[in-house]
Amino acid sequence: KPPQTKRILGHPQGLFLLFTTEMWERFSYYGMRAVLTLYFTQALMQDKAFASNFYGGYTSLVYLTPLIGGYIADKYWGNRRSILVGGLVMALGQFFLFCSGSIYDQPGGNMLLYIGLGLMIVGNGFFKPNISSMVGTLYDPADRRKDAAYTIFYMGINLGSFIGQTICALVGNTGRPEDFRWAFLACSIALLLGTVVFQWGKIKYLVTWKGEPVGETPVNSPAVKSVYWVLPVLLVVGLGMLWFDVNVYPILLWFPLIGGVGSLVFILMDKSLNAKEKQQVIVIYIVSFFVIFFWAAFEQAGASLTFFADEQVDRQLFGWTIPPALFQNFNPFFVVTCAPVMAAVWTYLGNKGIEPASPYKMAIGLTLLAIGYLIMLPAVKDPVPGVKVSAGYLAALYFFHSVGELCLSPIGLSLVNQLAPAKYSSLLMAVWFLANVAANKFAGTLSSYYPEAGKITNFLGYQMASLYDFFLLFVVMSGVAAVLLFLLSRRLTRM
Ligand code: GLN
Repeated sequence: KPPQTKRILGHPQGLFLLFTTEMWERFSYYGMRAVLTLYFTQALMQDKAFASNFYGGYTSLVYLTPLIGGYIADKYWGNRRSILVGGLVMALGQFFLFCSGSIYDQPGGNMLLYIGLGLMIVGNGFFKPNISSMVGTLYDPADRRKDAAYTIFYMGINLGSFIGQTICALVGNTGRPEDFRWAFLACSIALLLGTVVFQWGKIKYLVTWKGEPVGETPVNSPAVKSVYWVLPVLLVVGLGMLWFDVNVYPILLWFPLIGGVGSLVFILMDKSLNAKEKQQVIVIYIVSFFVIFFWAAFEQAGASLTFFADEQVDRQLFGWTIPPALFQNFNPFFVVTCAPVMAAVWTYLGNKGIEPASPYKMAIGLTLLAIGYLIMLPAVKDPVPGVKVSAGYLAALYFFHSVGELCLSPIGLSLVNQLAPAKYSSLLMAVWFLANVAANKFAGTLSSYYPEAGKITNFLGYQMASLYDFFLLFVVMSGVAAVLLFLLSRRLTRM
């Protein structure tokens, strides 16, 4: 009889330990994301283009380090130790940001800021890939509850994001630059809470259905302790890359491209894979490529859409001025409320035998993203000086983006899981992460074209003089990507 007798909602208790830990970590990630660009423009007095590029560089690197964190966990540390190390490093990172926010107007502030962000980049690399993969390890490989488990986990992500963005916007985005630090402090505390909860419950709850512990240090791990040198090295390399990317040349745009093409060639040359397996690998690459355009438009949330909320949206509500950072909250709110509806829709269509295949769902996701931006166009078409845009437009945009996310993000993840040949499952997961690396950097680059009054920006020959031109860019970008993916979907499904 399996020792995992107690269940919550039919799932092992361990799932809810991971749910809670991830919830607190996402509190920190998204809470900080909510105020980061505003901290740059309102406290550090940088322009929007610089803030956007920095945001892109940071959020890009956060997805690059998991490639190393995942590897170290598999080979040396195991998931548990990696999550603990990652959580503590990030808590320290947020604490550095808190200190930097306390002296933001003094010379040392910038140095603390860089170190803080560097620690976040390193810590996330150890935390995120390991907590995500642990969810699956709680179940028997053939257990059909796995998909549902990841859906519950995705709810934890968004619950954390919702609480974090609410608290950080309220305590940090008050209009007084010295208050941003409270958001960072809240994030640091959240991470400590997550880590404490994880430490408290890991021995008891992180077990397989047979009762064997999961995520422990691999028994034949060559040198558990001696790998710690990787942390300072990653910190220095990460900071160097961030600095170089923001100030000299956007290397982070090219990095994933080279890694992506290189790994594809490498896998396709492997003679031990048969033609069908190679075809499936190609599907993963094609889908990952399209996903870049999704996240690049989606991640405007923390940058250009927040500038827009700050400057152009009517934020008055019964005499209270809503902090601009709070608008990002629409996303996790809609994800949590719409996820059960979406699940029911897929089941309903499935029962009728007309559930769309994964590539179609992802194309629908891209379409919804384009619609979100399309809705903004009438709101910004003929601006009247002094008249602000109704907040309802932004709410509608986030609604479409969130439903789009539900069509694309969890679906894509399980598609990669299903299609990857066992031999390359980690490498192909890394490719999926690389799409985020490219997308987030691209998001920052695009946001740096946010039109300022009286200035015309030019993106690859496309001139943008107004918000209308700017939002139109995203309609076209995600719209074209959606159409192309629709056209390819039949073929991809067959493959
Ligand atoms: N919102 C999800 C998370 O934070 C997915 C984000 C992504 O893949 N870019 O985990």
